[in-house]
Amino acid sequence: MFLRNLALRWIERNLKLTCPHCKRPSSLETFKRGRYLLAQEELTCEQCNETSPVAFWRYHGLFPATDKDNLPLAG
Ligand SMILES: [Zn+2]
Repeated sequence: MFLRNLALRWIERNLKLTCPHCKRPSSLETFKRGRYLLAQEELTCEQCNETSPVAFWRYHGLFPATDKDNLPLAG
């Protein structure tokens, strides 16, 4: 779907990562690791030790107030 692809590209360019579990911004080291991962690849939070697909990190970086049950890429 065109709009979703466009949104994903935009999210990836913005490169802001927020942990979907603890909602804290990634550390610089986590950011560097997550920056070039594909959306489905998993990134571990240094602060709460939870692992989530990097797409979720990007989504929460973009919409930090969004409820965690409302992820657009789930499944
Ligand atoms: Zn976390």
